[in-house]
Order: sequence, then structure tokens, then C-alpha cells
Amino acid sequence: MILIVDDNPDNIYSLQKLLESKNFKVDTAQSGEEALKKILKYNYALIILDVQMPDMDGFEVAENIAGFSKTKETPIIFLSAVNTDKRFITKGYDSGGLDYVTKPVDPDILMLKVKTFYRLYEQTQALKDIQQTLEREVEGRKQAQKELRSKVDYLHTLLESLPQIAFTCDHRGNIGFVNGRWFQFSDNEHTFPQTHPDDRPIAAELQESLESGKPLEMEVRVKKRDESGYSYQLLRVWPILENGENNWVGTFTDIDAQKKAEKEKDEFLSIASHELKTPLTSIKAYMQLLDRKLKLDKGCAESKYVNRVQDQVEKLNSLITDLLDLSKIDNGKLGINKKVFSLERMVQNAIDSIVQTHDQSNMELYRQGDISDLMVYGDEIRLEQVLVNFLTNAYKYAAGTEKVIVDCEVMVDFVKVSVIDFGIGIPESKQPEVFDKFYRVEETSFDFQGLGIGLYICSEIIRSHQGTIAVESSAGNGATFYFTIPLNLPTDAK
Ligand code: ADP
Repeated sequence: MILIVDDNPDNIYSLQKLLESKNFKVDTAQSGEEALKKILKYNYALIILDVQMPDMDGFEVAENIAGFSKTKETPIIFLSAVNTDKRFITKGYDSGGLDYVTKPVDPDILMLKVKTFYRLYEQTQALKDIQQTLEREVEGRKQAQKELRSKVDYLHTLLESLPQIAFTCDHRGNIGFVNGRWFQFSDNEHTFPQTHPDDRPIAAELQESLESGKPLEMEVRVKKRDESGYSYQLLRVWPILENGENNWVGTFTDIDAQKKAEKEKDEFLSIASHELKTPLTSIKAYMQLLDRKLKLDKGCAESKYVNRVQDQVEKLNSLITDLLDLSKIDNGKLGINKKVFSLERMVQNAIDSIVQTHDQSNMELYRQGDISDLMVYGDEIRLEQVLVNFLTNAYKYAAGTEKVIVDCEVMVDFVKVSVIDFGIGIPESKQPEVFDKFYRVEETSFDFQGLGIGLYICSEIIRSHQGTIAVESSAGNGATFYFTIPLNLPTDAK
């Protein structure tokens, strides 16, 4: 808005009309006092000020305006009927005024000046707005930085208090923060601890996680700085999304003692099962001799006791065989000898041996699916072991039910062998774990004997055939255990 100050209402009227015709908003004052009051109350883009007014002349008004911080920058155009005198002009400029127009006013010249000042005013306003926005922005950023700093400090204090080695790194893998324990394994905060020659370097493993955005979890042997060898650590690195970018927090947890205990246990199992196997093989052989001898003596009552001993020896034998297999898996020595063989023969052999060892059971065994001509490539003995295991479990966990079904389904590029029983079943929440080492479903583990390693061995055997193994079940509704193996025979066997 423009303020016109003039003691002559006619002058005000003509100037107001002129400015309003050019779409400017206009306010007016008829004396210096009135003008000052308005100037203090409102904001004006420009003041057009008559110099000669009674009581307070235009220069005095301008001096007053220049004295207030709110108004000192407001541009002024002085209007004077008589004084183009240099003394007055200088006085005008000293008072903070910016230009001078003589009366009678040439409307074109006045408009030119008004427009220039108005544009200047608008630009100054715009600059002020930008400055204010920038100031607010800077303030906001300072605040955000302060908050971030305090969050980071909190995280660092937290990491420092952990009993583990802890660190943070950015999305490129550059280490940011390390806690005090870090220096047990690394002499500086920029490089990861050195790993055992047989383990992959941590930076390389981490790189893959950073690229995929997935957490990293690995067991790794890292070198101790006191030169006393390597220590087993569980390394976990997790992404944390911060400002739209993934930063990572990692910990090393000492699992050295646990690893040593595991190794000792594995060694013990391996030695114990070997040592047990030798006398057991002799017992089996002598029992067979005894059995044959007693069978010659028809009607001999001791014969059935010998059969029971043989059954128990067979159970003991299969437990020890499982333990031996377990230690072979742990040492990576579970031998798999693949050949082309008839799947039908393998399935029938497994069924025969199960039926023979469960001749007291009332369960009927049924078959589904025709695989009479199917040749597959794999380790026949190991796959039979898997099927025998499924069937043994079915007879054990579905004892007292009427039937068990062996179903063979040939698909386009794989064959699926399932054992379906109608026994106690497995709750859904427990199913993912049944193939884990030593896992037994807690609710039923007291009612049935077992070590919880059979299915683990099965899963390792199937894994080395590039197949799949799974269970479908629900508590109380029986279980279907199945495995699949691919049907691609080696080219020279087709
Ligand atoms: P084990 O039978 O010696 O305990 P396995 O490894 O063969 O060990 O089986 C692991 C667990 O899975 C068993 O303890 C049992 O809880 C469950 N399980 C296996 N087969 C069946 C089945 N057919 N029905 C119900 N539960 C089963």
C-alpha cells in the first residue's frame, strides 16, 4: 500500500485517482502527525510526501520516519511546488528519503518512480521472506542435528555397555563407531579383526549383506591381538534405517567355549559309537548262530526269547548307526554313492524290512502310485534309510491306528515319496524344527523313546540329493512326511 501525505485534499484526490487507476492500493494523510500515526500502525511500500505542510513539514516527517527501525527503510518520494533548491534536496536525502518530484507533478514521471520503488519494495520483501525461510530451515536442521547427535550418543553408550564387541558401519561398510572391547581383536577402529585362513574375511561377507540389505549372521574365527590364537565368535550385523539410508550395527559374541564343548561332545559321540559298534556286531553274529541252532530244535521255548533279544539288538544297532551317521555328518564324511537304481525295488525293500521288524503290529501298510518302471539316480541305501526312518516313525507315533500309506508320485522333473500316518501328528508351530539335530516335540517326548536325530540325518541325505524334505500335519490328525528327488539321470545312464 502507498501512503500519500498532503495538506491539500485536491492534490490527494488527484494523486489517489492516478495511482488507483494503475491498480495500486492507496492510503492518505492530511498532516505530518496523521501520517506518522499511520506509518507506525501500518506497513507501507512507499510514502509520497508533500514537503510544504503547515505545523510539520515533509522533511520533519521524513526525519521522524528515519528514526524508527520499523520504517527507516520505507522509500519516500518528496513532492514540492517551489523548492528544487539543492539545500532542500540534500535535506530530503539526509532524512532517509529516496527521491524528489517537483510540482506540478508530471504523472508519467511520478508513475515511473512509483513503479521503480514499488518493484524495489517487492523485491526487498521477497528477499526478506527467503531470508526468514532460510533462517527457519537452518534452525530446523540445527535442531534435527542435535536430536540425531543425542540419539547417536545414546546408541554409542548402549553399545559401550554391552558385554560383546560392538560396532557401527555405514552402507558402504566403513566402520563408524567401535566400543572398547573391539581392541581385543583389532589394533585400530578402521579395520575388521583378522579371520582364520579357512574362514572368509569379514569385510567380504559383510559386503554381500550390504548389497542385499539382509542381516548377516555367521560363526567366524578371529585372531586375538595377544597372539594366543583364534577365538570363535558369532558375528551379527543388522541394518537400521536412518534418514532413508541403511546404517548397520554389529556385534561379536564369544562362542569359543560353546564351540569347544560342541567339538568335545562330537568327538565323544564319534568314539563312543565306534566302540559300541564292534561288540554289538559280535553279539548280533552270535545271536544269529544261536537262533539258527534253536530253530533246528523245533518247539524250543527259548527260541522266542532269542527273537526278542534280536529285536532289541536291532534297535540298539540302529541307534548306534544313527549316532555314527551324525558324527560323519559333523565331519562332512557322510558318504553318498550315487548310482542309477529302480525306485520300486528300494521302496519295496524298505517296506519289507519294516513289516518284518513290526510283525506284532496290527497296522496295515498300503501303497499308492505306480513307479514300477522308474529309474532314479542316487544312493539307494541312504534313500532306503530315509524311507525306513519315516516308516519307523509312523509305526511309533501312530501306534494303535489302523493303517499307514506309502505314496509315490511321479512329477515332471521329480518324484515324491510320502509316508502318511494317522497318529498323534505334530503341531504346526513345531514342524519347522523337526528336522533339526536333537529336536523332539516336547509334549510327546516322554511317551516315545528316541534321540531326535533320525529326521536330521534324513534331511542331510536328501540335501545331498538336491531334493526336498518336509512334513504336513496338525496335532492329533496324523502326519505326512515326504521327500522329493530330481529325476535327471546322468547323461551316460539314460
Ligand atoms: P526320534 O523319533 O528319535 O525322536 P526323529 O528325528 O525321527 O527322532 O523325529 C524327531 C521328532 O519329530 C520326534 O521326536 C517326534 O516328536 C516328531 N515326529 C517324527 N515323526 C513323527 C510322526 N510320524 N508323527 C508325529 N511326530 C513325529
